[in-house]
Amino acid sequence: MILSKEELIRYSRQLVIPGIGPEGQHKLKAARVAVIGAGGLGTLALGYLAGAGVGEIGVFDFGPLELSNLHRQLIYRTGDIGELKTELAKQRLLEINPEIRVNTHEGILTAENAINKACLALAKTYVYGAVYRFEGQLTVFEPRNGPCLGCICPDTEALENQACAEAGVMGPAAGAVASMQALEVLKLILGLETLKGKFAMLDFRLANFSVIELKKREDCPVCGGRARLDRKFIASVSVNLITPEELKARLDSASAPRVLDLRYEWERGLCHIKGDAWVDFNELIKGGAGLGPDEELVLYCKGQSKSAAAFKALRDKGYSKVSVLKGGIDAWAEKIEKGMTRY
Ligand SMILES: [Zn+2]
Repeated sequence: MILSKEELIRYSRQLVIPGIGPEGQHKLKAARVAVIGAGGLGTLALGYLAGAGVGEIGVFDFGPLELSNLHRQLIYRTGDIGELKTELAKQRLLEINPEIRVNTHEGILTAENAINKACLALAKTYVYGAVYRFEGQLTVFEPRNGPCLGCICPDTEALENQACAEAGVMGPAAGAVASMQALEVLKLILGLETLKGKFAMLDFRLANFSVIELKKREDCPVCGGRARLDRKFIASVSVNLITPEELKARLDSASAPRVLDLRYEWERGLCHIKGDAWVDFNELIKGGAGLGPDEELVLYCKGQSKSAAAFKALRDKGYSKVSVLKGGIDAWAEKIEKGMTRY
């Protein structure tokens, strides 16, 4: 593999770093990296990986670009709204660096529930990053010979539920974590020391960063010696879900359940499901907000995180007929009420 004159110039600022040189650049060019999610973390990590000359990049995401993505997903433009994120990302990455190959994969694959297990099965290294409001997390998992995501967070469903849509996220916090993820990927390819076995916790409010050691857990539900208990474990943390189609059919029937909106009042002002009622989330999880434990309730929020948290709190209090609208009002707007305001 020979680097062209143009490539030598393009990568010159990293080629001069001791320990990289043309040999390191060859490693980058020969590398293949999959990026799960072309969102707040993915887009910026993708930009850096493309810029650095990673030879083949896979982009996994689904659905169109939305207005609310733009405050942090900086490779997209306002004029791109409504177009598929995977295709937009491919176009932008090739504009950044036409020397690389970009493959797109349109479809739902969640980092938390699928990637950890897939990486274990395929012996792939997983560079994990997460961001929540002003905070970030970062680590590198090599699940066959070190801890996996399940070792540090057995309740991967709860992790998955921390969607940006509901928890909120500061754009630059996502950018910082994404940049660090890209760095870890490049260091892995170059054979340099990484965060493997360590977990970085970043609190950007006071620039408070700490790194702790991670240990493999013998009782990890994914990689531990008793991983066969996985199914039972999953059942114990799962929530009862009702799909938008099922809820619509129930609302049209004689035995309609009570539908409760757990979002903020300003969100309710934008859109809500006809015939529902608003309930204060904190009151609901603390004391049931005056609802009877035998009442049939369907909880919804923007995605599913608040509802899932409320479901678990109510189940612990003995409420037996509660379910969560799968995909929240986003899925309702997509599948049932297509004219509804999206945000
Ligand atoms: Zn594990």
